Formats: sequence, structure tokens, C-alpha cells
Amino acid sequence: MSDECIFCKIARKEVPTEPVYEDHDLLAFDDIHPVAPVHVLIVPKEHMVNLNDAGKNDVPVLGKALRLAAKIADERGIAESGYRVVVNNGEQGGQVVPHLHFHLVGGRPLTPGLGLRREDLSPGGSFLTGCRIGV
Ligand code: AMP
Ligand code: ZN
Repeated sequence: MSDECIFCKIARKEVPTEPVYEDHDLLAFDDIHPVAPVHVLIVPKEHMVNLNDAGKNDVPVLGKALRLAAKIADERGIAESGYRVVVNNGEQGGQVVPHLHFHLVGGRPLTPGLGLRREDLSPGGSFLTGCRIGV
């Protein structure tokens, strides 16, 4: 836990939130500035800055977070329509809060391209070869 970290403070109940889900490892709550009708943050309670800090021992919690994203998506009625799970890492990854978290976003058609710049997309809108991320 980090004293000044906002998500650690939420996990310690020093900052009030309405939990969507909570257990020993994870806390989920609605994003304060939602970008879509469903925008839930899934946060490991243990303080890790981002995926760079995640070690072998964290693998079960990270897997559990992804399964929880699917469960909450189902509860919010967007499992079939589709949704996105995003982890912003570091400055150029767009991370603002330095405590690892998963964004679950859906409930409207999301822009294609994972938020990459238009120049990174082929004219058809799919990724150019070499720009594919993790597939
Ligand atoms: P990121 O850019 O990936 O670090 O995302 C941080 C997210 O945390 C943003 O979407 C913020 O709106 C959200 N956020 C920051 N503070 C709070 C808070 N107190 N409660 C809920 N969401 C928050
Ligand atoms: Zn923290």
C-alpha cells in the first residue's frame, strides 16, 4: 500500500466509493469520469504501479481481474454487445493514476483502433502489419 496513492486510499476506505465488487484481492468501482455508459475500474488491492511491477505471484490476481471484467460486463448487460478491457501503462500508454487498474468500457460502439492514431490504421481501419498489438 502506498500512503498517497488514490486507489490505495480507496482500497483502505479512506476515500469513499460505491464498490461494484470487492474481495480480498480486487476492488471494482465506477470510473469518476466515464467515457461510456459502462466504465468500471478493476483494481488489484496490492499497490503495483503498472504491469511492469507485476511478478509471477501476481498472475492469479491478474487473471482473476480479467474474469471479473467479463462477469461485470455480463451483469451490466454488455457481454453480448461487446466491450473493451484496457490497461494503460506509463506516460506514453496514457496512464494517469500510478496504481495498476483495468478499465472495463462498453455500452456504446467504441472507436476501432485501440485509441491509436489514425496514421497507424490502414485505409480499411484495421491495423497495418507491424502495428498489431499482442496478436
Ligand atoms: P488511467 O489514465 O488509466 O490512469 O486512468 C485513471 C482513471 O481513474 C481515469 O479514468 C479517472 O477518471 C479515474 N479516477 C481517478 N480518480 C478516481 C476516483 N476517485 N474514483 C473513480 N475513478 C477515478
Ligand atoms: Zn496504490
